[in-house]
Amino acid sequence: MSDSNLIKGQTGLWEVVIGLEVHAQVVSKSKLFSGSSTEFGAEPNTQVSFVDAGMPGMLPVVNKVCIDQAIKTGLGINGTINLVSVFDRKNYFYADLPTGYQISQFTQPIVTGGYLDIDLEDNVTKRINITRLHVEQDAGKSIHDLHPQHSYIDLNRAGVALMEIVSEPEMRTPAEAMSYVKKLRSILRYLGTCDGNMEQGSMRVDVNVSLRRPGEELGTRAEIKNVNSIRFLGQALEYEIRRQLEILEDGGAVVQETRLFDPSKCETRSMRGKENAHDYRYFPDPDLRPLVLTAERIEKIKATLPELPDAKKARFIKDYGLTDYDASVLVAEQEVAAYYEKVVGSLKSSDIRVAAKLTANWLISEVFGALNRESLTIEQVPFPPQHLAKLVDLITDDTISGKIAKDVFAKLWETGEDPSQIVEKLGLQQITDPAAIEAIIAQILEKDAAKVEEYRSGKPQLFGYFVGQVMKIMQGKANPGIVNKILQEKLNG
Ligand code: ADP
Ligand code: MG
Repeated sequence: MSDSNLIKGQTGLWEVVIGLEVHAQVVSKSKLFSGSSTEFGAEPNTQVSFVDAGMPGMLPVVNKVCIDQAIKTGLGINGTINLVSVFDRKNYFYADLPTGYQISQFTQPIVTGGYLDIDLEDNVTKRINITRLHVEQDAGKSIHDLHPQHSYIDLNRAGVALMEIVSEPEMRTPAEAMSYVKKLRSILRYLGTCDGNMEQGSMRVDVNVSLRRPGEELGTRAEIKNVNSIRFLGQALEYEIRRQLEILEDGGAVVQETRLFDPSKCETRSMRGKENAHDYRYFPDPDLRPLVLTAERIEKIKATLPELPDAKKARFIKDYGLTDYDASVLVAEQEVAAYYEKVVGSLKSSDIRVAAKLTANWLISEVFGALNRESLTIEQVPFPPQHLAKLVDLITDDTISGKIAKDVFAKLWETGEDPSQIVEKLGLQQITDPAAIEAIIAQILEKDAAKVEEYRSGKPQLFGYFVGQVMKIMQGKANPGIVNKILQEKLNG
């Protein structure tokens, strides 16, 4: 723990303690215990089987795909997969929970332990331990804003498989919590076990936060439910930390309760007092046997794990000489990393590290810039990766300068044409013939004799002026290295 993470109140220092419970919807065609579709955005109540609707006598049958996804996720977050786990009933009454209980896992979850390394500023990483991952059903949705007197219920979501991933209370700042969710989302997307679409509710975060004096026991926490964006997570925490600080500094006590974040007001407010676990009367679901897994099944899934972001990042740094920052940006999304590697794979350059580094620059600044401007994703880049490789090759083999390359890129983006054809058609090849450059320089020095005099009598900053003149006359096509060299000779020699 670094002291810089402590906050200074009027009565002394405080440490913030944050633990997150992330609900991640499992990518699966059908629900956890029924064959109903999980497709997002369907007409209300069109994806509800008798099991989901809690009809008497219906029996749940566990969906193997959902369990495999949970195993895969457990492996991806370095957890231990338990060969035996148990489904429990978590009993509570709610209008959108027709069974009167949610099937979840309590004492024996499918995954225990695990960790992920979060990325902080200045290339610092911090390991956050994960307590557990368990599988459970989602509830339906109550809709209160469609009618002045009535509420509506949509059970499409009822019974959809969720993974609840619980962290240890090891985060100390809003930035760490945000970084944790980003990292977890990135891993889930790489694994293909949750789409991570927070706006659609596929990933929701319950935020537990408390304050304590450094070195003391954990303080009383508040839990902010269902935060559905990383930005809101940061805002909710900022607000909640300030609120608790004020209470504690005034000598008061934080009440353990559930709160909601209101994005329009940027504040949290009390929703209900915190239930204790025993209020749910958890007990093993008599309709379901314990979930028993074989070591072979787990091994088989392990063999399908993709290279995850941290490993990919380390490889990019090692093989391509990328900076930590560039590598982080490129691996955050699997599709971006794949695009990058396709470009690198098509490079002809003899110095692959130089070219790969240049490719990273072009992808991050020019391609991302254009994608942002037009609100497009990496899948929608209007030219194949080979064309970007060609552009980089044209720069590294001195056919065009980096500056001209920007114009070629603009044309490439517009037309999707092969960059060498663009260069050819527009006659943009760099001029590297020293004689041609020397002739132009001679002209300029003759015409600007006064400036030359000034330069020689002690105004070296005028050098740039002459370079500019050469480039202007040669339409930016002169090789800058050669221009510099000849100018040096002529002016100083
Ligand atoms: P529950 O399931 O009742 O919400 P848990 O004990 O399982 O409670 O904890 C849930 C989350 O709250 C975990 O992520 C844990 O790290 C976090 N947590 C527990 N105690 C505190 C605390 N005092 N301050 C902040 N976070 C906490
Ligand atoms: Mg909780």
